[in-house]
Amino acid sequence: MAARQIYFDNNATTPLHPEVRKEMVAAMDMYGNPSSMHAYGREARANVEDARKRVARFMGADESEIVFTGSGSEANNTVLSLFVCHTTQCIPGMRQTIVTSKIEHPCVLETSDCLKHRGVDVKYLEVDGYGKVDLGQLEETLKSTSVGLVSVMMANNEIGTLQDIPVISRLAHKYGALMHTDAVQAFGKVPVNVDDLGVDFLTVSGHKIYGPKGIGALYVRKGIPYCPFIRGGHQERGRRAGTENTLGIMGLGMAVDMRAAEMAAEEVRLQGLRDILKKGIGERIDEALFNGHPTDSLANTLNVSFPGAEGEAILLYLDLAGIAVSTGSACASGSLDPSHVLLATGVDAERAHGSIRISLGRENTLDDVEYMLEVLPGVINRIRNMSTAYIKGGVHASAR
Ligand SMILES: *Cc1c(COP(=O)(O)O)cnc(C)c1O
Repeated sequence: MAARQIYFDNNATTPLHPEVRKEMVAAMDMYGNPSSMHAYGREARANVEDARKRVARFMGADESEIVFTGSGSEANNTVLSLFVCHTTQCIPGMRQTIVTSKIEHPCVLETSDCLKHRGVDVKYLEVDGYGKVDLGQLEETLKSTSVGLVSVMMANNEIGTLQDIPVISRLAHKYGALMHTDAVQAFGKVPVNVDDLGVDFLTVSGHKIYGPKGIGALYVRKGIPYCPFIRGGHQERGRRAGTENTLGIMGLGMAVDMRAAEMAAEEVRLQGLRDILKKGIGERIDEALFNGHPTDSLANTLNVSFPGAEGEAILLYLDLAGIAVSTGSACASGSLDPSHVLLATGVDAERAHGSIRISLGRENTLDDVEYMLEVLPGVINRIRNMSTAYIKGGVHASAR
């Protein structure tokens, strides 16, 4: 390992908050089943319900509206799968069209695609150059088609762009559709209040907010049609079978409390660091092209393209220097397909290939940012010099 280790990949996952870790270590041996009526069970149940209250309170929901899930992905799958619920709990007359966007997380896009093959009609909204969904196209679609659900993410994981969820919710409801938002990246970074947003469903995940992996929560508005994705138990009021992940739930509860305490100041600090990074990169590196929205964006996220330098090569050279970033999304790495998000914003394939995502978190300092600004220009130069395809400011003969 390099002498210095800097983690700039907080949109992929975050380290545990020390208080979360403490809470989980202390609870490690609390093995009672929350469904058991004896003292062991009651202790676990009390802790699960306490965490539920904390999660609910932080998003302005009632505790009865929170369903704990095994991940953010599972929560998103649960909502979309309402369309193919054919049991006795089936939703009668559920309109068979989903409207989502082209820049959703793969767990929404791939589930939608799968539903398409099962007869559900899916429409994908275009986004503009900043990653904002096309509201005109949304209203046209709602007007002309009988839409059952609109699912648009609150903040994009790759470029950080925030959507105008209250506006989208109002449009969805105006035409009788339900509204879901994947708030995994937004929750804990910007204020999330289910009533202000006007959503019927909202997804969050533990490990993006310094909580544990393998725990998520789905907000389901009271009285809204629902169908369990995982069946076979009475847990979560019959909405998600399986013995509760007590430890994960408690970790999520504590992570939420810590966000409630730290979020406001932390986001101002991270935005300061992000802006120093952005300015420094712009000054020190030729042709640094920033992706996403300049202002309506997560404070911690910086996505930048360096034409003539492959994102994977940048990632590996930075890794040698002890700096962890990502190319596009973590889920897309390993494949050489350019980011679907960047392509949807109109970025060409070469620029998309030359992009990295730097996502800051609570452990990052000004020192980290300065070190990055020392290392990155050399890395980009080195890669560009090796690449015969790169001509500064000019046409890039395609190497692929
Ligand atoms: C990470 C992420 C998810 C998936 O959450 P998991 O808990 O890892 O399954 C979903 N949506 C977005 C926007 C994410 O960033």
